[in-house]
Amino acid sequence: MNYRHAYHAGNFADVVKHVVLSRLVEYLKQKDKAFRVIDTHAGIGRYDLSSTEAQKTGEWQGGIGRLVDAALDAPAAALLAPYLEAVSSLNPEGGVKKYPGSPLIARHLMRKQDRLSAIELHRQDAAKLRALFAGDFQTRVIELDGWLALGAHLPPKEKRGLVLVDPPFEEEGEFDRLVDGLRKAHKRWPGGVYALWYPVKDRKAVAAFRKALVQSGVPRLLDIGFEIRPPSAEPSLDGSGMVVVNPPFTLERELRTLLPALHKLLVVEKPAHWTLEWLAA
Ligand code: SAM
Repeated sequence: MNYRHAYHAGNFADVVKHVVLSRLVEYLKQKDKAFRVIDTHAGIGRYDLSSTEAQKTGEWQGGIGRLVDAALDAPAAALLAPYLEAVSSLNPEGGVKKYPGSPLIARHLMRKQDRLSAIELHRQDAAKLRALFAGDFQTRVIELDGWLALGAHLPPKEKRGLVLVDPPFEEEGEFDRLVDGLRKAHKRWPGGVYALWYPVKDRKAVAAFRKALVQSGVPRLLDIGFEIRPPSAEPSLDGSGMVVVNPPFTLERELRTLLPALHKLLVVEKPAHWTLEWLAA
């Protein structure tokens, strides 16, 4: 458990992940009925971009730093507005000094009837998360192995909602755990929306992951790929991806507006591409 998200908060991969998260939550809000967001690897929820960790990598400058004051065309700007509002709510003086993690973005967008379960295994991170949401009766912070939550916590009593699975990928076998976790979770709750994040570092591992997802038999899998540079000689985060299971019917169309706009801002070296592919229809 060496991974600390504070080094990476607000980088290009966070931006893409959190924009997708915001679109999924916005869709759920179209019906009055309450929903639950379950964040299985929640992190600490709020990141200080002037911290030693964030300054050390400066990764946020290639992510939210490029987006925050960018001129966007109207359709992309409208779709990004909920996400950018979540960011600006932490930065009332303008600019971006603080960055919200996934649980805080979901919480910012939720209505009074909706609920959040934020799960984090690292003891100190879970304590920070608990402090962040202290007194918030709509949010439950749980210090737990997020993989277990894919069994025990599903389906939520609201029977509507979204599960974000965003592991650190610091250990071998994380791709396999994602596939197994999804299989197990989907059996318990086939109607849930799942968003599974993955790194594009080892392209063979990514190809095997996609193949295993197809073979899992879980239907309705939309795969988002977002690469910011061609394959590096040494393994490094050249891109990221997200598989959305049971995506809202609006998501593909929205992503065809959002991904090119984000890519234009976030690409580091060409040729590099974004992709959108149904792994299972
Ligand atoms: N989802 C967060 C966001 O977008 O703001 C970032 C999460 S970060 C990539 C992964 C987090 O998972 C880290 O905070 C790490 O401590 C935590 N973690 C690692 N193994 C875990 C496990 N088995 N269960 C729950 N959390 C875990």
